[in-house]
Amino acid sequence: DTPKPTNFLRQIIEADLARGTHAGRRWGGSPGDAEHHRQGSVDTARIRTRFPPEPNGYLHVGHAKSICVNFGLARDYGGICHLRFDDTNPEKEEQEYVDAIVEAVRWLGFDWRDADGHEHLYYASDYFDFMYRAAEYLIERGLAYVDEQSAEAMRASRGDFTTPGTDSPWRGRSIEENLARFREMRDGKLPEGAAVLRAKIDMASPNINLRDPAIYRIKHAEHHNTGNRWCIYPMYTYAHPIEDALEHITHSICTLEFEDQRPFYDWVLDRLKEGGLIAQPQPRQYEFARLNLTYVVTSKRKLKHLVDSGTLSGWDDPRMPTIVGLRRRGFTPESIRDFCERIGVTKDYAWIDYALLEACLRDDLEARAPRAMVVLDPLKLELTNWAEIFGSADHLEQCELPALPHAREGEAPPLRRFTLGRETWIEREDFAENPPKGYKRLFPGNRVRLKGGYVIECTGCEKDADGNVTRVLATVVEGTKSGTPGADSVKVKAAITWVGVQDGLQAEVRLYDRLFTDPQPDAGGKDYLALLSPDSLKVATAWVEPSLAKAQPEARFQFERFGYFVADQRDHRPERPVFNRITGLKDSWGG
Ligand code: ATP
Ligand code: MG
Ligand code: MG
Repeated sequence: DTPKPTNFLRQIIEADLARGTHAGRRWGGSPGDAEHHRQGSVDTARIRTRFPPEPNGYLHVGHAKSICVNFGLARDYGGICHLRFDDTNPEKEEQEYVDAIVEAVRWLGFDWRDADGHEHLYYASDYFDFMYRAAEYLIERGLAYVDEQSAEAMRASRGDFTTPGTDSPWRGRSIEENLARFREMRDGKLPEGAAVLRAKIDMASPNINLRDPAIYRIKHAEHHNTGNRWCIYPMYTYAHPIEDALEHITHSICTLEFEDQRPFYDWVLDRLKEGGLIAQPQPRQYEFARLNLTYVVTSKRKLKHLVDSGTLSGWDDPRMPTIVGLRRRGFTPESIRDFCERIGVTKDYAWIDYALLEACLRDDLEARAPRAMVVLDPLKLELTNWAEIFGSADHLEQCELPALPHAREGEAPPLRRFTLGRETWIEREDFAENPPKGYKRLFPGNRVRLKGGYVIECTGCEKDADGNVTRVLATVVEGTKSGTPGADSVKVKAAITWVGVQDGLQAEVRLYDRLFTDPQPDAGGKDYLALLSPDSLKVATAWVEPSLAKAQPEARFQFERFGYFVADQRDHRPERPVFNRITGLKDSWGG
């Protein structure tokens, strides 16, 4: 194993481990409502990270980066990463998304069980009682107040980058009044929008996030986990540090958009520490640059539009950048993890080329994807001297080629078998009646090898009334069968792929390509819908070699000369094969 390249997060963690920053962590003293989660997890010197998705949609390739960073660091340093559903927004969250996220993280190869088999899967909503008590504590300390201004007035009084905010008329109300009013909020006595609980910090702070941010709002909405128990819900920015603290997270790693929120993150925890409400040492937040991938949009709103408008077939359309989409497209978990490893973790804003993701897939599959031949644009080839040479027009020659390019040491290469007969399917572009300069494939008078079969010599073609070629004619050159001593007796400049008419299987082949024509389809106010590529999907009725009859859904192959393909997860059946192109054999995008 080569050592992993370092990055700023690794350096922070290594310094913390060397210093024993987390070694003195005590577990008692501040139970919160998370106590029941803690059984069997009393380790003190390990790092704990978390991946905290909101269950309001499907995960995408950007989340994959966050998953790889958080679970990867925990794995590499002998720690644990929690999977936590940040479900503080009742209206948008659903069980369907929870299930899909669990499945996606597992599929990527990560696990939230510790060495004792304890599952570290949590919900922010499990901590609502604690969050509520912590809010009352802030009120009691004069650090929070109920504001009854309209949303508009509140926005206007926040000020902006050049102007300090102005105090709300409710900012000075008494602790008793605040407590009473907050309890009325909790008890459902106030309609939505009538009041919010705000932290009392500093309306003149240069960081707008510290100008008395809201920490609770009223929502008369049913929650996927807590049902109708609550009609007030904590704001994400208040809830998140508490979730981290109750779970004893050591390194709370997020994307750079949250950098300006860090002072509030620390404010919440510092105040709760003063009240003895959370254990020490408390978690710290670190930020890295989010993934931006060319030819991809990741905005949930835009992806939802592509699905709802019928532009794509669903959240798992193989052109979607969702994890379910990448999976159905044929990407392997290994290739996605490798991709995340290669792009690394930095604080610099950058665009990553989609071609890198494809390169990772090729690197993963090059050695392990079985090879197969396929004809995507079929034209019939007839070997006119077949009966003469083999004694019967129906004779079939057994042919074989290695299924994998490299045999394992000490083992014979696995073979795939197929038959050559009088008629075969060849690629339409492999014949030219009037060959352009330099053309090496079939044209009258030229010889090529049928890969894994015989050398043949083209003698002509048949055409329909419109002049379209309907059949290519050729003769077999005796004694040239691949793998026999005479194979090299006749030199040719090209070997072409083919599938036997006798044993070929018909298959639907879905040729996927970039969804957008522009590398940054939604940057700088561009209209991503106008940049949809008309060529992102072409469907071919193809012929494939018989070794593919046994392909299971999600089995991946290299179709010689065309790239990497996967048997479609949903639609593939042995009697009706469907293959998706994952990517071509080499980068054809100028990379
Ligand atoms: P929303 O569209 O609701 O804002 P989100 O993209 O923020 O969604 P979350 O479910 O809140 O989604 O994200 C979970 C985690 O994934 C967060 O820590 C977030 O920072 C991280 N994440 C989201 N997008 C990216 C990205 N493009 N690159 C790296 N990490 C990301
Ligand atoms: Mg979010
Ligand atoms: Mg987002």
